[in-house]
Amino acid sequence: MAEVKYSGVRESHPGRINDLGSTGAKVEQDYRKGCLKRADRSFSQGLQCQQINSMAALMSLEDSVFISHSPQGCVGCSIMAVDMYRVGQAHRGIKKIKNPRLIVTNLDQKSVVFGGETKLREAVELAVKRYSPKLIFIYASCASGIIGDDIDAISSDLQKQYPDTLIVPIHCEGFKSKICASGFDAAFIAINKYILKREKIEKQKGLVNLFAPTTVSYADQKEMERMLKLLGVEVNYIPFYSSLEKIKRIPAAEASTSICKVFADEFMKTLEEDYDIPYSHTVMPIGVRNTDKWYRGIAKVLGKEDEVEEIIEQEHKRIEPLVAKIRQRLEGKRVFICGGTGRSFAAAALIDDFGMELIGLETPTYDDDAQVDIEYLNKIHKNFVVDIANMQPFEQVNLVKKLKPDAFIGVPEWAAKLGIPTTHVLDGKRPTMGYDGLLFLGNKIADQLSNPGFNKKLSKHSRLPYKDSWYEQDPFKFITGGQE
Ligand code: SF4
Repeated sequence: MAEVKYSGVRESHPGRINDLGSTGAKVEQDYRKGCLKRADRSFSQGLQCQQINSMAALMSLEDSVFISHSPQGCVGCSIMAVDMYRVGQAHRGIKKIKNPRLIVTNLDQKSVVFGGETKLREAVELAVKRYSPKLIFIYASCASGIIGDDIDAISSDLQKQYPDTLIVPIHCEGFKSKICASGFDAAFIAINKYILKREKIEKQKGLVNLFAPTTVSYADQKEMERMLKLLGVEVNYIPFYSSLEKIKRIPAAEASTSICKVFADEFMKTLEEDYDIPYSHTVMPIGVRNTDKWYRGIAKVLGKEDEVEEIIEQEHKRIEPLVAKIRQRLEGKRVFICGGTGRSFAAAALIDDFGMELIGLETPTYDDDAQVDIEYLNKIHKNFVVDIANMQPFEQVNLVKKLKPDAFIGVPEWAAKLGIPTTHVLDGKRPTMGYDGLLFLGNKIADQLSNPGFNKKLSKHSRLPYKDSWYEQDPFKFITGGQE
């Protein structure tokens, strides 16, 4: 029987759902009883496409060119990853800031009728001539997928023509998944197939793969590396700001872990199957409890349980008085949280450190892992709303306006226009993780609450694109199906 391999489409996991409006208590109960089914929206307002996640995951790799085999519009939101790449360079002390080398094949009506192969070949030729890169990534799109351009066969043919450049096709056609984290999986599947190729290399004792998405700031990278180095390990930080050489070192590692719960989680399973690398997949290290859990997870895989307990004790001694001070500023404040699956649940746990009250949580997917987090949150917080949505700002603003939180933590653009104090946790620019990140984030939330002037002015001078009547309606009225 043929070997069953993970397809890279997150919806393929049984029980994982991605459109729902509920409460913490109800979703926990319904999920346990098996009553949640995959739903849809009769109106939806822009999803984040998985192609951008495949691009963002790799965009800071050295000596690389990124070819989007798509119409021009598909790379529109790559600006977000470009911005993070530029800021990341500045934070790393790079003086001459570069843009990523991004080429779009510009599929048009003619290509849809006659095929886009010629355009793709021309783009690869141009990339090699202009940049002589070590790596070219070719990103599929809805258009190239629908017209059936065989990017694997074209890449394999071009590889013979350009043997000094590794050509890696990535199947991240936007229509395949509504869960944008599928784009990370598509990128890692391609890395395994075209770069690592299941070839085993000599193991290096004490080497740990630390996977991190673009939204992790340089300060967070340093904090996580600091914590791992206290355990006496060498860190292979990938794929952000890394290189072909660092990617090729992945199979030499003694263990793997990830900073994000939905980044490289599937890839770490593959690494265990194909290269015998055990891994730790626990939580995102935001807040004291989660940081401890994350730290203990990787220490266990490395057989360093005793060492980690000593370090945790020291770290707690250091930060607890500082956390207590922040708590005095934040206790009792009502919070709405919005973020990716890993970060929103982690941030919700963080607010316990500061004695805040969770009143709303928006996150893209719900599955077994989310259920564990919700069970924990339900023990502490009562009656919070749960919105399972990939983006959908119209639902978010309706909820935020109704719930009137004191603070909003997450992607802030929409809530800020309502005049609510906001703190970004996904911008990749500021510390959020580990023991030091917790202190920075706590102070930042408290500073926003003491000085909400900017968002208040913003709300007076900007308008959200919804009629007043929308705010009177059920925020989840467009969700169809989903429950039995
Ligand atoms: S790949 Fe598809 S979903 Fe993604 S941006 Fe292009 S058209 Fe939109």
